[in-house]
Amino acid sequence: MISVVTGGCGFIGSHIVDKLLKEGHKVRVIDNLSTGRLENLEHHKDNKNLEIFKEDIRDRESIEKIFEGVTYVFHMAALADIVPSIQMPTEYYTSNVLGTFNVVEVVRKYNIKKLVYAASSSCYGIAKSYPTKEGNEISPQYPYALSKYLGEETVLHWGQVYKLPVISLRLFNVYGTRSRTSGTYGAVFGVFLAQKLANKPFTVVGDGNQTRDFTYVTDIANAFYMAAISEISNEVFNVGSGGTYSINRLCDLLGGEKVYIPKRPGEPDCTFADITKITNMLKWKAEISLEEGVKMILENIDYWKNAPIWTPNSIEEATKDWFKYLG
Ligand code: UDP
Repeated sequence: MISVVTGGCGFIGSHIVDKLLKEGHKVRVIDNLSTGRLENLEHHKDNKNLEIFKEDIRDRESIEKIFEGVTYVFHMAALADIVPSIQMPTEYYTSNVLGTFNVVEVVRKYNIKKLVYAASSSCYGIAKSYPTKEGNEISPQYPYALSKYLGEETVLHWGQVYKLPVISLRLFNVYGTRSRTSGTYGAVFGVFLAQKLANKPFTVVGDGNQTRDFTYVTDIANAFYMAAISEISNEVFNVGSGGTYSINRLCDLLGGEKVYIPKRPGEPDCTFADITKITNMLKWKAEISLEEGVKMILENIDYWKNAPIWTPNSIEEATKDWFKYLG
């Protein structure tokens, strides 16, 4: 059994690689190492079942051969984060939309069993109802969200027209080990962990009562695996923890002082996945509680020791375009 993981050196991708190797697959990773890190797969360096190809999904020819003889494809490669997507929409469009187009175009020539796409819950924008179902209105608020949604539409369309067996998983606030960001101001865990290591206060947005459906990364990797091996195709599933937790609660679990910073435009007060569909159809459910997940992260907090330490001032500077364009 051979699997390809695009973006396999990244945060979620590397955990999928762990899962696949554990299940006895041969794994081919495609990663341009722009944000992914070889360090994330360092623990497999002597494993003959893992091959890493430093290639870019924007260059179709360079990735074509890698898909030969492959059974499952996990398409994780993408650019993340809100602000850079506002500042560099071309980069996001070419990587996340055209890159996805290249992957499905290459893959449809081979007889693969499943392509699983990493979609984003950001497609719901400020959701109309909670917990949010897959049928909820789609309302991307910034280019990253739009690009991931267009990637999803592309994958599903290739499923419809070319009968490519595909599944799209809409991920809600994934956290866990190896979630460090690459210098840009991004997801809350990386920000808070670097602050904790530096004994600086957590920069809490608004009053901290907003909630997020924090889902642990190994649960996410299991969802990808189950989506791949299932007989089900051409479906979209929410992947969430089954709960939603406030930023204040997260601060309590991490332990540290707080400083408050202004609320940003377009940010939902809550994200909360309705996971009825994935629970029923794929028999998947998250297993790691927020308490357990945070504990595992704190045991590995050194991973964030070189991550940028954000302060209210540097966040104000870094989020200028967020306020400018989404306000
Ligand atoms: N957040 C925060 N301080 C920060 C960064 C984020 O309090 O320095 C909050 C943010 O307001 C949001 C939550 O953490 O409610 C998750 O933010 P993230 O950017 O990780 O995910 P998203 O908002 O896209 O769901």
